[in-house]
Amino acid sequence: MPTIGIDSVSAYLPGYRLNQGLAAELAVPPELPLAAPDEDGLTMAWEALRHLDVTEAPLVLRVPGGDLEPRAVAAHLATSGPLRTPSAVLPLSARTGATAALTAAPGGVAVLADHGRPADPADPPSPDGALALRLGTGRAAEILAVETLPVLAYDRWRDTEPTGPPDPRFVEETLLATDGGELLDRLVKRAGRTRDDLAGVVLSACVPVRAPRWAARWQVPAVWTAGPEYAAGRLAAATLRTAFERLVAAGPGSLVAVLELGWGGDALLLRAGPDIAETVRIEARASLDEYGYRLWTRTLSTSDSAMWTSPAKLRREAPALVGLTGTRCATCADVAFPPRHTCDLCGGTDLAPTELARTGTVVSHNLDRLFAAPDRDVQMVVVDLDGGGRFFGQLAAGSSRWAEVDDRVTLALRRLHDGGDLPHYFWKAVLP
Ligand SMILES: [Zn+2]
Repeated sequence: MPTIGIDSVSAYLPGYRLNQGLAAELAVPPELPLAAPDEDGLTMAWEALRHLDVTEAPLVLRVPGGDLEPRAVAAHLATSGPLRTPSAVLPLSARTGATAALTAAPGGVAVLADHGRPADPADPPSPDGALALRLGTGRAAEILAVETLPVLAYDRWRDTEPTGPPDPRFVEETLLATDGGELLDRLVKRAGRTRDDLAGVVLSACVPVRAPRWAARWQVPAVWTAGPEYAAGRLAAATLRTAFERLVAAGPGSLVAVLELGWGGDALLLRAGPDIAETVRIEARASLDEYGYRLWTRTLSTSDSAMWTSPAKLRREAPALVGLTGTRCATCADVAFPPRHTCDLCGGTDLAPTELARTGTVVSHNLDRLFAAPDRDVQMVVVDLDGGGRFFGQLAAGSSRWAEVDDRVTLALRRLHDGGDLPHYFWKAVLP
């Protein structure tokens, strides 16, 4: 196969953390990255995409979340900026692995988000995050080979009890020893390489695996997994992020294989490009050990789903609100947001749409104790945007402190509320 170039990579890791007591109780690593209550698959995709320099491209989306419509995601990404014109959108199911997502987007942009919340608050949450990449030149990396191994495997998920749960150890042995070994051999052979050429293998299997054991068994320098054991097989963004982190560490020319196993498997062979260090960007939001997790999982199931606004009003106003577009007065040059028909300052009516800056300075704030936020009071801020225009809205959830006058902030797209059973998004102020 011809090699597929990867031009640049951008990953986003949210900053919420469980507090230590709850992390211990749920048996999860305390450093587990979790989306804030106002983040979801869409907003994390937005965060990952905004550092890629793309305007128009076919888009492949793997954004889990029961209430997210793929076309709504694409519309928000297009209106709010990071990808101005998605020329075609290929939505992928939340079960799509990293290999399939990457190879489905030749010449375009692939966005993968891991996002979920356990239905039962007593279950551990899996790590959240997103990764976006642009295909094109091989500055960041190249896909040297892709292999897939479809396998019929009806009976082998269970050991003795026909109705019992799958036995992870049994599955690990059959899955990794047979399918994994065969897939890895076929992958390196297809690229004219051997296992000795690899810096290591990133492994995502549908069961927890003992990685060091498989490094020895497969005779490769290292086997890495992404995320904790109980999230096995569910993480596509984290799997690819791990592969790119390893390629950066191993340097230009190094080879990392990605193996995704379960009912056979898919595999990728990645080679680090000449500019791997400069073209892979991983943004981890500063961690915050303050989390109303229990309260939030309870709140999620409540019916905050009354229609907040009319469809007509939404259609009229949403493009300018989500697009962060205001108006500039031709007479006195005042910039207003939301857009006006008449200038607030001079009464002029010659107003033209103007795109607003996404950075600014806090000029006023107060606390809203009535907004239905799951974790704590919501701070409302007034921000004078650079280049004109005044923004009034919430401070993003997961901020490490309250905003103060003269704080510099950035605006980011976040989840505002649910209405009519659909999530609604608006800009919020984020402290550095
Ligand atoms: Zn004016």
